[in-house]
Amino acid sequence: MNQRDLLVIGGGPAGAAAAIRAARSGVQVTVFEKGPHGRDKVCGDGLTPRAVAALQELDIDLGPSHRIDGLRMIAGRTTRELAWPTTDRFPNYGAVWPRRLFDTYLIDIAIAAGAEVRFEREALPVMEGDRVVGVVAGGVMFTAPMTVLAAGAQGAAAKMLGAERDPDEPFGLAIRAYAQTPRHAERHLEACLSLRDEHGTPVPGYGWMFPAGDGTVNIGVGALSTMQGFKKLNLNTLLDQYAAIVGEPWSLGPYLDKPRAWRLPMSSIRRHGPGWVAVGDAAGFVNPMNGEGIDYGLESGMLAAELFIANPATAPDVYDTMIGERFDAFLRTGRRFSFIIGHPFLLRNGLRVAVGTQAAANVTLAVMGNLVDNETPGAAGRVMRLADHALRLADPLLRRTRAAA
Ligand SMILES: Cc1cc2nc3c(=O)[nH]c(=O)nc-3n(C[C@H](O)[C@H](O)[C@H](O)COP(=O)(O)OP(=O)(O)OC[C@H]3O[C@@H](n4cnc5c(N)ncnc54)[C@H](O)[C@@H]3O)c2cc1C
Repeated sequence: MNQRDLLVIGGGPAGAAAAIRAARSGVQVTVFEKGPHGRDKVCGDGLTPRAVAALQELDIDLGPSHRIDGLRMIAGRTTRELAWPTTDRFPNYGAVWPRRLFDTYLIDIAIAAGAEVRFEREALPVMEGDRVVGVVAGGVMFTAPMTVLAAGAQGAAAKMLGAERDPDEPFGLAIRAYAQTPRHAERHLEACLSLRDEHGTPVPGYGWMFPAGDGTVNIGVGALSTMQGFKKLNLNTLLDQYAAIVGEPWSLGPYLDKPRAWRLPMSSIRRHGPGWVAVGDAAGFVNPMNGEGIDYGLESGMLAAELFIANPATAPDVYDTMIGERFDAFLRTGRRFSFIIGHPFLLRNGLRVAVGTQAAANVTLAVMGNLVDNETPGAAGRVMRLADHALRLADPLLRRTRAAA
């Protein structure tokens, strides 16, 4: 009775992408989402051009979203407004799409494609030896040849599979709120790279203003765990300080809701095993250089489903190899980079370089837009490969001298 082809734990973008792909190919897929239909997710709501490309691959209409043409970077007294570059791989626009609406839109497409979605149902994997044979949800067992862990930042389900954050690797924390602004229809994201905490310590991270086109802006701040004093960092205070800076230029109204914070996982000890794979945040696929992960979630969800359709028996191992080829080197470089910017001195000087010239700012833009990886041609790709090499050599020293306290 409760046998399916594919089971998915989590109905965020990664789980929905897997379900859409699978259901459209006739796979009998059930998604378990512990939140209600229309649940919200703490997020900046920013879709990079890379995310737009993934949505196009899924044939998703971006009509309801607010189109974004570029990024305004602010570091100290320097402001640079840049358009997303035109490349062969990604479109030259992104979007802002509040997650309550975006995630509902995606999961409804999965349902329309034939996926069964059980809301308000927490699911946990069921093991036979080291193999996942299904899940248990609401006291009922469901079996399938493969289960996709798309449960977001690692929790109970991940713990059972050993898919936990690597304690030696960095992670992020971020907080967001919504507020009204007359500038809600602007077509540029804004990122302030020179945040300081209440003690004046530079924060490796950024403050953002992501206009939603609906009268509001998503305002938030995020920081990396490599920062000095991270454990004592008060995100609410940091957000208030940032709101005070942007309040006047944005004619910002009061927060419309209570600011909410959440984790940004940037590693996972395991991401596959017999009968299961992890996708999206559950696999630690968040870019340490900008905290974005919707695009990686969509891509990894699609790939997991495609490999399952091709061959359920080999899918977990092939997924691990293929997703590793796509993301591992780049994300490793990002994690190493986060140890550098955890040092206030290196961060201050790095920022000067990052926005100092138009060429350098374009590379920063490519990184902030998730447009660059170790395969990218051109200047941004060269910088990435060089950074990969240099940071590999510097890594042991960076970790030994990490600034975090
Ligand atoms: C403050 C903040 C700002 C961010 N801003 C951006 C941004 O602007 N752009 C960007 O690209 N990324 C951003 N990110 C990262 C982005 O939110 C994540 O990368 C993205 O949500 C990952 O999607 P996912 O589907 O893997 O996980 P999620 O979106 O977290 O979805 C996981 C789902 O699984 C459900 N779930 C969990 N456990 C279970 C269980 N046992 N059973 C059933 N259901 C379960 C949860 O309820 C949830 O709905 C931000 C993150 C934070 C915290």
